[in-house]
Amino acid sequence: MSARVEEAVKIYGSGPTQVRALDHVTVEFPAGRFTAVMGPSGSGKSTLMHCAAGLDTLTAGSAWVGDQELATLNDRRLTLLRRERIGFVFQAFNLVPTLTVLENITLPLDLAGAVIDQDWIDAMIDVVGLGDRLLHRPSELSGGQQQRVAVARALAARPEVVFADEPTGNLDSRSGGEVLGLLRTASQDLGRAVVMVTHDPRAAGHADEVLFLADGRLVDTMAAPTADLVLERMKAFERPVPVGSRP
Ligand code: ADP
Ligand code: MG
Repeated sequence: MSARVEEAVKIYGSGPTQVRALDHVTVEFPAGRFTAVMGPSGSGKSTLMHCAAGLDTLTAGSAWVGDQELATLNDRRLTLLRRERIGFVFQAFNLVPTLTVLENITLPLDLAGAVIDQDWIDAMIDVVGLGDRLLHRPSELSGGQQQRVAVARALAARPEVVFADEPTGNLDSRSGGEVLGLLRTASQDLGRAVVMVTHDPRAAGHADEVLFLADGRLVDTMAAPTADLVLERMKAFERPVPVGSRP
């Protein structure tokens, strides 16, 4: 199953102060693919993620998870869809400090009163390599380890789509590399659609495809990216307009 948005438009505010954060964006995030969304600050990356994940609503256009159009769901069903079919990883880890690693991983399932698939949970603990840390509190872990817990938590409900907003933003490059490797595993080996918002070309270089946003528009895509290629492309976008062509 994939996630997608079609002709997505998001306008914040109204009148002269209104901001068009998304401007007719059509993108698909297929199962098994690791997609990075890049663009300068304010280009609409987080807005795209929030609208695709049902955390915010579009002004026009449509957002889909599989065959389900999000706008047709009431709040309760949208909450259920997010809980069962989408996993989230945030820059700030967002772990509960008073719970153990294991409790943090299963928290979304516990809150939902869902049946816990112990074999799957064990497999996820294996994948993130935290088997010997299960009874630790988040404060006893490094940042990289905490984010690995967050990845395991995101995968606990066997979601179809994983959205990660700047997941390596607070990590050193080695820990960041580990987390990126996990996101790759989630797409390549576990078959999830993985979507990562980042402004770091090195992080984007781990993805299968990079989407470039500028001023709320999809301006380019790159298959088989490398950090160098992404950096070059970003520089091209940020190159100042030549003086002679300014209005
Ligand atoms: P990015 O994640 O690429 O930095 P965002 O999606 O956060 O960009 O923001 C895109 C644009 O929408 C920016 O101009 C931002 O200021 C604006 N924006 C984002 N959220 C809101 C909001 N809640 N209210 C008003 N404007 C917003
Ligand atoms: Mg953002």
